[in-house]
Amino acid sequence: MRDFAAELDARKSAGLYRSRRLISGPQQPALTADDQSVLAFCSNDYLGLASHPSVSGALLAAVPEVGVGGGSSHLICGHHDAHHRLELALAGLTRRSSALFFSTGYMANLGVISALAGRGDTIFSDRLNHASIIDGCLLSRARVRRYPHNDMSALADMLAGTSGHKLVVTDGVFSMDGDLAPLREMARLCREHDALLVVDDAHGIGVLGEHGGGTLEQLGLSEQEVPVLIGTLGKAIGTSGAFAAGPALLMDYLVQKARTYIYTTAMPPAVAMATCAALEVIRDEPERRNHLRHLVERFRTEASALGYRLMPSHTPIQPIMVGDNWAALTLSRELEARGLLVTAIRPPTVPEGEARLRVTFSAAHTDADLDRLIAGLADCRCHYPG
Ligand code: PMP
Repeated sequence: MRDFAAELDARKSAGLYRSRRLISGPQQPALTADDQSVLAFCSNDYLGLASHPSVSGALLAAVPEVGVGGGSSHLICGHHDAHHRLELALAGLTRRSSALFFSTGYMANLGVISALAGRGDTIFSDRLNHASIIDGCLLSRARVRRYPHNDMSALADMLAGTSGHKLVVTDGVFSMDGDLAPLREMARLCREHDALLVVDDAHGIGVLGEHGGGTLEQLGLSEQEVPVLIGTLGKAIGTSGAFAAGPALLMDYLVQKARTYIYTTAMPPAVAMATCAALEVIRDEPERRNHLRHLVERFRTEASALGYRLMPSHTPIQPIMVGDNWAALTLSRELEARGLLVTAIRPPTVPEGEARLRVTFSAAHTDADLDRLIAGLADCRCHYPG
């Protein structure tokens, strides 16, 4: 039998062991973690909707009406009109013809990629794509070619040298770097080389674009240019689940073929109803996105002035680059000792030698919260290499 204990010990001595904190109470910047009060800068609740009263209220109001459980899969008898209404609202938000609701983003990527590409096809995937995209590629049994991060000339060469069906897949906003994929250029390359473009905008939906339609709205990219969009609902939207959006024909194809859609219990309809309420907040309160942008730009100016190395990102994902695993852990622990929760991200989530603190912002953070983070970073500067 494999020596699992030795493998865990090896992880510990390499500074790669992952531990969980026990959170109590609602998801919000002021968190109780392992019985300690902390101010968190590491959640993906970018708009502060996870505990917004309209969203929680919609969930509470939905339960007496539709109950708790999803009952069965969508294709048996679980496809509720609440799911249908949410799909219509998501298609509206993203300006696509139709949308299909999945239970998680991980499952959406697995299901969509493995349905749209198969044996004999080729998938082109950015080296920094999310783990669920990588796993979706593996599950498809297609040939997978990974191109260097956002390197369009490498992608163009690979596409030109490949025959057969081609699918190109990328994060819209990269989850650990916070930068954007060059989607206009990717759409052009895909048109030239007759490849299907799939964009996972898990971190852009709700945050980017004038109406919160995400990276594609910000860049003005239509359904013709980006036929398959994937978004998640557990981050800026504040609830849970995910969706694919695009032409009705492709969504119908996914209903027939995406195994993670077909063979799983439908998400509780009450969650779909709470999600519809969250989409209304996104529509009605654009000031949340504006405040978020303000926090991000303030942080960039003040953290750079302290000598912290940031990435070229203008999204709420603002990693502080450290490098060494232990150094990243030390900086994170020192901040935590000052009541600031910012998790260290280490390989394999990021490449070897690129450990970092993944600072994220939420519209629920105040300027005073940011003052505290900056003061903590100033205080911990001596623990930052370089
Ligand atoms: N795609 C990306 C880019 C992500 O960052 C994540 C979550 N971290 C997912 C997909 C998975 O979404 P979910 O959490 O809904 O499974």
